[in-house]
Amino acid sequence: MTKVSNFSPRPVNPADDAAIRAAIGQARHALATQDVPIGAVVLDPAGKIIGTGFNAREANNDPTAHAELLALRQAAAALGTWRLDGCTLAVTLEPCTMCAGAIVLARVPRLVFGAWDPKAGACGSIRDVVRDRRLNHSVEVVGGVRESECAALLDEFFAQHRKIGPDFGPAEGSE
Ligand code: ZN
Repeated sequence: MTKVSNFSPRPVNPADDAAIRAAIGQARHALATQDVPIGAVVLDPAGKIIGTGFNAREANNDPTAHAELLALRQAAAALGTWRLDGCTLAVTLEPCTMCAGAIVLARVPRLVFGAWDPKAGACGSIRDVVRDRRLNHSVEVVGGVRESECAALLDEFFAQHRKIGPDFGPAEGSE
């Protein structure tokens, strides 16, 4: 999570950059409830934000209240359909296995994320659910957008919580 995005192999699309900036804004809301700061937004085919979410596992006492799931649900409600054809999900951290599965189920064609998650990421790190050729839906993945900024948010959070007590740490607190 310490790689610098300036050395990304391809230039960042300005719309993707703006989407991750919006997701970072969402992530900051999680701090109010001591939730791990991860945020997500869903853009419709025209690029308008139709769903937002931030990690609310602690706030809601819900193990599935990940930013991505909340944003996908809001977007589906806004569109009036579970199929998010033509939409983009942007999230500050590489999605976990559950969220990657939800992205496939919602038929989201495009995923943009900030930091890689080498411990739990299921979009290229420990496995690749969204590009599994055995599934009949494949997702275009753009990782590492504003990577250092997204990673810094998490690093600061975990650094602060390590000072408070031993029960917090990236292995337990990250997705
Ligand atoms: Zn997740």
